[in-house]
Amino acid sequence: MFDADQRLIISNQRYAEMYGLSPQSVQPGMTLLELLRLRAAAGTFQGSPDQNVATFYSKGNAVAHVSDLPDGRAISIAAEPMNGGGWVATHEDITERKTAEAKIEYMAHHDALTGLPNRTAFKNHMKQALSRVKRGQQLAVHCLDLDRFKFVNDMLGHAVGDALLQDVSRRLANCLRDVDSVARLGGDEFVVLQENVCGPEDAATLAERIINAISQSYNLDGNQINIGVSIGTALAPHNGLDTDQLMRSADMALYRAKEAGRGVHRFFEPEMDREMQARRSLESDLREAVALQQFELFYQPIVSVETGQLSGFEALLRWRHPKRGLVAPAEFITVCEEIGLIVPIGTWVLKEACKMAATWPEDTKLSVNISPTQFRKGTVILDVMSALAASGLSARRLEIEITETVLLQDTDETIATLNQLKGLGVRIAMDDFGTGYSSLGYLRRFPFDRIKIDQSFVRDLNDGPNSMAIIRAVTGLGSSLGISTTAEGVETAEQLRQIRAEGCTEVQGYFLSKPIPAQDLHRYLMSTQSNKSNRRVA
Ligand code: C2E
Ligand code: MG
Ligand code: MG
Repeated sequence: MFDADQRLIISNQRYAEMYGLSPQSVQPGMTLLELLRLRAAAGTFQGSPDQNVATFYSKGNAVAHVSDLPDGRAISIAAEPMNGGGWVATHEDITERKTAEAKIEYMAHHDALTGLPNRTAFKNHMKQALSRVKRGQQLAVHCLDLDRFKFVNDMLGHAVGDALLQDVSRRLANCLRDVDSVARLGGDEFVVLQENVCGPEDAATLAERIINAISQSYNLDGNQINIGVSIGTALAPHNGLDTDQLMRSADMALYRAKEAGRGVHRFFEPEMDREMQARRSLESDLREAVALQQFELFYQPIVSVETGQLSGFEALLRWRHPKRGLVAPAEFITVCEEIGLIVPIGTWVLKEACKMAATWPEDTKLSVNISPTQFRKGTVILDVMSALAASGLSARRLEIEITETVLLQDTDETIATLNQLKGLGVRIAMDDFGTGYSSLGYLRRFPFDRIKIDQSFVRDLNDGPNSMAIIRAVTGLGSSLGISTTAEGVETAEQLRQIRAEGCTEVQGYFLSKPIPAQDLHRYLMSTQSNKSNRRVA
């Protein structure tokens, strides 16, 4: 506390301690200038005492500021003038609070593992860089995603995974010039901002350099590790001048790079954007389709080769969209699988098809296609049981068609599910046989009731002996294993003749009938039944 003559009235001991002064040296009656000179001598004052005092007086003995001491401490000083002259000053050591704030500020903008800037910091930095993009100058945003990182993390543990990410960050930083920057977006995703780019070649050169650097092997914890990196690049101003848009574009290019295989670099192209938008609108239309009940089922007859009579129908999904028209499954099933929609749709298909089949003649069977995703989500058993219960359809009349992709994952669990279905009395068919791995091991591991020979073989029957040889082999295999065989996609009398000669047990195809809308099905059934003397469809 100072009086109206600007002389010290009183100070506490803490003041002397804080500034490294001996308590005796701080005496009432001293001027502020004398005091500050003492502190300067003790090394706890930054700047010039004379100037400081002059400024303080000129501001009417009032001050509120943080003073940084030469030893790194931060002191918050607040002085208030008193009535009748003089002032009271308080000095608070806020070093810890400032350090904590600085740390929070640092953490808010950096990735803890690698010390690289994070997404927030990167975006801020990119915004500034974009404002600097001048005429004729370009900037490249590279989105990076490591190849095989998940594998390393899963196989060797997170500690090795973390160390690998740190190594990768160092290598990335080494690939860059001072003006460029790199950030970690999370997981094994990084982004590089390359400034002062003269053209796409510059960007491609850096991308190649990064791919090369990251692909060199790593030695961690005695493990020799090899990973790669895929890169998608967008250029400013060419692909836009907006941070989010450029990041999105680079990300789309990255998606393409991933699709093209590993260790690949791709530039963004507007075409990708159009495709992405088309895909997004398809996704949102599909989500609506479930709620609006735009799905319906068609039924395609399956006919016994021996008797020529109808043995059952395969339920085939259709989507009736007000603008898109009647959409075939090839155009939407994969998307539904990718976004998980296939699970509710598949539940509906089973329920609807079983309800329909329960109205058919007793000996007419139903085939339903089940997607691998439904298996993975573990809903199949419950769906089948409740569809059967709700419709009253006998399990013996239901056949489930799966493709071998079902068997590619979690085989033990899948086989268990298939056995459970079989236990219910449901039959299991292997669909599209001959198009994938067609592993004979699957036929040994699970007792399929039916093999459906893919339509591509039937289609190519006229083009030489190869397809015929395959069909012959599969029907032979089927008959010796006691498995029925159905030939798909029979379109001509000649194909039917050849198939019959090879001993397929059932046929399906446009020659016999196209898939039939549900509302026309009873008319079809009536016509095949009324022809009592000869019920042959084929
Ligand atoms: P898929 O199970 O192999 O079904 C046979 C496909 O061949 C059907 O196509 C059918 O219309 C078509 N087809 C039948 N006979 C002929 C013919 O003589 N010539 C030609 N060119 N094609 C013929 P669709 O209905 O477009 O279905 C395509 C695929 O979509 C199906 O192949 C199946 O894998 C899948 N799918 C259909 N409905 C469902 C469903 O409810 N759930 C699931 N998960 N997948 C379904
Ligand atoms: Mg099928
Ligand atoms: Mg098929």
